[in-house]
Amino acid sequence: MKQVSATVISNIELMPGYHLICVDAPDIAATSQPGQFVTVRCREEFTLRRPLSIHQIAKSGQVYFFFKVIGKGTAWLSLCRKGEKLNILGPLGNGFSIRPTSKKLLLVAGGIGIAPLTFLAQQALTQEKSVALLLGAHAKDELYPQKLLPSEIETIITTEDGSYGEKGRVTDILSRYVNWADQIYACGPLAMYKTIAGERQQWRNKKPVQVSLEVRLGCGIGACFGCSIRTKYGMKQVCRNGPVFNLDEVILEEVKI
Ligand SMILES: Cc1cc2nc3c(=O)[nH]c(=O)nc-3n(C[C@H](O)[C@H](O)[C@H](O)COP(=O)(O)OP(=O)(O)OC[C@H]3O[C@@H](n4cnc5c(N)ncnc54)[C@H](O)[C@@H]3O)c2cc1C
Repeated sequence: MKQVSATVISNIELMPGYHLICVDAPDIAATSQPGQFVTVRCREEFTLRRPLSIHQIAKSGQVYFFFKVIGKGTAWLSLCRKGEKLNILGPLGNGFSIRPTSKKLLLVAGGIGIAPLTFLAQQALTQEKSVALLLGAHAKDELYPQKLLPSEIETIITTEDGSYGEKGRVTDILSRYVNWADQIYACGPLAMYKTIAGERQQWRNKKPVQVSLEVRLGCGIGACFGCSIRTKYGMKQVCRNGPVFNLDEVILEEVKI
């Protein structure tokens, strides 16, 4: 983990309210794993740093973050311009893991949940895995642009209003792809995890599912215990033991995102 002052290379509003920011951070780029995150100091007067998943890494040392403008911190970040410096701490937490024996990975992204999964896809492809992505959004104008995804992955799109791809949610089509996959990875709202956990009861072969829990963090480095959750294996800190957990171990009813 390092604290760096990273120069902003670009900051683009990809869709209304969703930004892709690229910073020059070679130390973080060299040591990050998919599913890990950084915390960003958004304005000096904000005590709490804002957690963001590592979205993509460029070999030349650039790190990308994809974020949705939610409140004051992300609004501030959306206005950062090329050449400005960002105070970033990372990489933090425990990310996704790929079993050496797994050949086919199924990624399930609900909305902004695509943020950590692109880096996972990037890494999986370097390990010659086959990757399928179920990508869901409320409507076409909130869909992550397919042109930014690696061309080697198969992407299946759903929108809740039917304005693009299949009408419905990613969880509506999940059962069609489960048998194909060796491992499943999900990132999205808590309701999506609850639906997956419910459906998983019906799967003949209970494939492992890893999920990223994006709960509110305090310090982000395991010092304050503000993000502790009860799991089947005792109390765990989301920022230090997670944010990625096996769906099996999380007591979803007790998690508040
Ligand atoms: C491990 C992790 C990775 C994340 N990765 C991404 C990502 O890649 N892209 C993205 O858009 N968002 C991501 N989030 C959520 C993101 O951190 C929040 O949307 C952001 O902190 C909101 O800050 P704000 O000041 O704009 O909002 P405010 O509501 O003004 O924030 C007030 C406080 O609540 C916290 N907070 C508010 N919403 C959330 C939330 N949903 N999750 C966690 N903390 C929250 C803020 O950090 C801040 O401390 C991630 C969260 C976690 C825990």
